[in-house]
Amino acid sequence: MAAVRACEICKQPIDPERAEAIPDSRLCTEHARAIARFGGEFITTGVQERTSKAGSLKRNYGGVATSKSRNHEALRRLREEFEQLQGTMKRGRS
Ligand SMILES: [Zn+2]
Repeated sequence: MAAVRACEICKQPIDPERAEAIPDSRLCTEHARAIARFGGEFITTGVQERTSKAGSLKRNYGGVATSKSRNHEALRRLREEFEQLQGTMKRGRS
């Protein structure tokens, strides 16, 4: 049972099925699609695991440590674009 999350961009609730499938996602279907243009919501890097300790954010998947982080740059650009769109709508109401 997952609590209903809101999209980070438009504050609309995220489709529960999607939220369950991608627990890390903070975007609704529409904005998940939109952020693909900026490189996607997440940046995933995989590196061959060494014997040294993995960083705290790394997960071990059988010898390959993957690090998945949110694509903050893409999120920033998507939010900017969204806010611009909102602004345009407000200005057009005169
Ligand atoms: Zn959204």
